Amino acid sequence: MRRVLALLPLIAALAGCIDAPQAPKRQTVQRSSAYTPDRPDMRQCLASLGATRASFSPLPDQYFGAGCATLNTVRLASLRGDYDSLALTNLGPVSCPLANTFAAWARFGVDRAARQILGSPLVRIETMGSYNCRNVAGTGRRSAHATASAIDVSGFVFADGRRITVLGNWNGGTAQEREFLRVIHASACKRFGTVLGPAYNAAHRDHLHVELSGGNYCR
Ligand SMILES: [Zn+2]
Repeated sequence: MRRVLALLPLIAALAGCIDAPQAPKRQTVQRSSAYTPDRPDMRQCLASLGATRASFSPLPDQYFGAGCATLNTVRLASLRGDYDSLALTNLGPVSCPLANTFAAWARFGVDRAARQILGSPLVRIETMGSYNCRNVAGTGRRSAHATASAIDVSGFVFADGRRITVLGNWNGGTAQEREFLRVIHASACKRFGTVLGPAYNAAHRDHLHVELSGGNYCR
């Protein structure tokens, strides 16, 4: 009798399962407090990102339809320079491979250029975001932003308090500041497949679009 009593809740639960209307299936899987991806290449990517000492959390895959999705993405809280952490502003989900390339560029491309050219370490990278379900302007083609595979970088803040923006300093400010922006643009071109800045068109006058495209397009 005790065994039957012990089974009663289970039987009731099973009955409830059969009778209850089926809840829509979640597209995401969440384990404990942190999402852990199943794919080995994603786990490897996250391990590489961890090795850069970036602060981040993996995000569950999400499909938004119409060619827009965030798969294998992370939320980056901060990156590491040679000596200190680098803050980030306004950044949404970023694909893990892009996050790795961005972390390397921030440290070896931007932070070191800041100290060499401006005499002050980098403390913050300002962005205009990463994920955005949209087309490439003037086309019917989905932007790399529609899959969180591109970041728009708009400015930089340094330990001495100076702030340099693409809009204000690409053609303005001091010769040093203009040189800094051109040097980090060139170093971005070595790491990302596609880099678009003010020299590309007016739509990019206020940011550098950096994208892991597998191509070699630097403007
Ligand atoms: Zn962009």
